[in-house]
Amino acid sequence: MKIRVIESDCILKTGLSSIKLNDDLKNCYLVLKNMKVAVIGGGAAGFFSAISAKTHNPDAQVTIYERSDKLLSKVRISGGGRCNVTHHCFKIHELVKFYPRGEKPLKKAFGIFSPTDTISWFNDRGVELKTESDGRMFPVSDSSQTIIDCLMKEVHNLGIGIKTKSAIKTLKESKNGLILGFKNGETKEVERVVVATGGSPRTEGFNWLRELGHNTEEPVPSLFTFNMPDESITKLMGVVADPVSVKIMGSKLKSEGPLLITHWGMSGPAILKLSSFGARELNEMNYEFKTLINWTGELSEQEIRETLKGVVEEYGKKRIHNVNPFELPGRLWEFLIEKVEVGENMIWQNMGKKNINRMVHILMNDEYSVSGKTTFKEEFVTCGGISLQDIDIKTMHSKKVPNLYFAGEVLDIDGVTGGFNFQAAWTTGFIAGKLR
Ligand SMILES: Cc1cc2nc3c(=O)[nH]c(=O)nc-3n(C[C@H](O)[C@H](O)[C@H](O)COP(=O)(O)OP(=O)(O)OC[C@H]3O[C@@H](n4cnc5c(N)ncnc54)[C@H](O)[C@@H]3O)c2cc1C
Repeated sequence: MKIRVIESDCILKTGLSSIKLNDDLKNCYLVLKNMKVAVIGGGAAGFFSAISAKTHNPDAQVTIYERSDKLLSKVRISGGGRCNVTHHCFKIHELVKFYPRGEKPLKKAFGIFSPTDTISWFNDRGVELKTESDGRMFPVSDSSQTIIDCLMKEVHNLGIGIKTKSAIKTLKESKNGLILGFKNGETKEVERVVVATGGSPRTEGFNWLRELGHNTEEPVPSLFTFNMPDESITKLMGVVADPVSVKIMGSKLKSEGPLLITHWGMSGPAILKLSSFGARELNEMNYEFKTLINWTGELSEQEIRETLKGVVEEYGKKRIHNVNPFELPGRLWEFLIEKVEVGENMIWQNMGKKNINRMVHILMNDEYSVSGKTTFKEEFVTCGGISLQDIDIKTMHSKKVPNLYFAGEVLDIDGVTGGFNFQAAWTTGFIAGKLR
């Protein structure tokens, strides 16, 4: 049913008939027609919320309030300046597995706006995305500026207002909506608010939202690399082993994938995944723990022993340096042999049971001490934020305060590296902007 409001006499045209509105309904319609919508935060989620708000509510006056003088600043630096917009993963039950926080609720949200919708949304606006071998999706231009230009153009075309250097300090409920309290002391009443202020490194950063009754999960960093100041393996910096399996001693944390040795420790997808799924536990350990690496990936002890037995039989007279049974990077194989502590000229048939046992142990339970973490420059996010129990995920509406919505990293939602965090921002922003 199409509804049109004629302001002068307030006749509601339904397509079938015209209804004269009573005063209350008239007021209500006029409010909705001129509805002021404030989106707090000029990042990915804020822009997408604002665009969605104006698209779904064309008569609303939508304004983005950004505390700094820069818009979309994380989009600009994201993905090493290329912006990993989303991930090539179209099955929702698989997609949600990439979110250590938010897995279950996101099932519903991705049913409303998924990576397929993200790809179409950008395509429809002339931005083509390409997929890399690991599933990450970037603009074909390989430049985050393309994404920024697209979002800025859309905001401009829709007539969305932007106010920079406008930090919001307080939010208060009012009769018709909410009152924004700006840092400079000014206030403004609006009918709807979307909070898209991103992650905060400290719980106090959420105080203004906690004061409205929202619960928060304590923020801790996610997506970081491991520091190993006392480990000589760092001399192999640049070496990639793929796949490896990594465990954290004293926990159930485990991950698989490529591992990159860096000059400060270890990085790469296997480590970043662990840092994300273990964000809270590793924080509780104060980032001091031990890792166990299985350099053969998922091979079991029996499979490793059988492979080594085959090598002894077939290449018995060859030096262990010259036969690399698990096809590890050459420098890594040399390094591991050194740890087994057999001489340079040792040949396979002379290894003996003791040395083979030691080799098996090093191949599958190689122990390293981690002391501290380093920010992964390509992407980092905060684990924690506004508790999802206080949000209706199908609308992103606050369960605590009427007319208030949330989107993006301010929520207790975060994913592993690979475009999942922006996807969460587009999805929650789109839903919040519907203002349902
Ligand atoms: C270096 C780096 C690279 C990344 N690369 C990728 C990537 O390639 N792919 C990916 O999926 N994810 C990436 N991420 C993660 C991704 O950038 C974030 O998850 C995403 O930007 C979150 O969007 P957001 O809009 O919720 O928050 P933000 O981008 O943090 O935006 C929040 C905005 O709100 C403003 N704000 C905060 N408080 C107030 C206030 N009180 N009043 C007014 N304004 C306020 C802030 O200034 C900010 O501009 C990366 C992150 C980093 C740090």
